[in-house]
Amino acid sequence: MEDSALLRYSRHLLLEPWGTEAQERLTRAHVLIVGVGGLGSPASLYLAAAGVGTLTLCDGDVVDLTNLQRQIALSSSDVGRLKVNATAERLQQLNPTIHIHTDPRRIAPEVWGERLGGVDLVLDCCDDFATRFALNQACRALGIPLVSGAVIRFSAQISVFDFRRKDTPCYACLYPPESRPEEERCALLGVFAPLAGTTGTLQAGEALKVLSGVGDPLVGRVLLLDGLSGEFRTVRLLRDPCCPVCGYGTSAGP
Ligand SMILES: [Zn+2]
Repeated sequence: MEDSALLRYSRHLLLEPWGTEAQERLTRAHVLIVGVGGLGSPASLYLAAAGVGTLTLCDGDVVDLTNLQRQIALSSSDVGRLKVNATAERLQQLNPTIHIHTDPRRIAPEVWGERLGGVDLVLDCCDDFATRFALNQACRALGIPLVSGAVIRFSAQISVFDFRRKDTPCYACLYPPESRPEEERCALLGVFAPLAGTTGTLQAGEALKVLSGVGDPLVGRVLLLDGLSGEFRTVRLLRDPCCPVCGYGTSAGP
């Protein structure tokens, strides 16, 4: 590791357990961030600052004035630009030593699997169930860890589905087909900006833990955050034998 990298990442390198080996794992890693809105904006800043070697940002949206309340990688002068371009520029200013790719195409659910070649971890920061379920299925099929986050109004949740492990549940275990909630959009219902920041930042933390091998990621647990009461609680999530994605009747087997 070069002197400038030793200095840049010194406050992580000082951590026990962390060290140069964990940092070098981050340098070699490629993370795909799906959605660079309220969650992906803070998450991408922390992953870039921490030295994740390659980031790919996927988002087809153009920056709108309503985004600036919480999407902190953006500036007022970015209104009208592609969100991935504005975000990538900010991340590159923050850390010029990492590689950043942008993909502003809208990706059909059935082709997500083709987009995950060479990716070590996926951060689900999107805002629609079709993409969430498609990412879950593609990551499960390819054995890629998925860090899932969601926020609406004053509520948020985070979980990690580490498909390298046999015992991990998946996003479809959390939302079986018969109990899927209605889609809730922050454009209609609102979102508490600091809670989006907290949730995206915690997602980045879970991603760093999975990539570096340090700590105990939120696998088999869902962290629920209540921005109004300030209460965080964790609930267990077991792998569902009847899950259409990872249950006993699928190729994931018992
Ligand atoms: Zn499942």
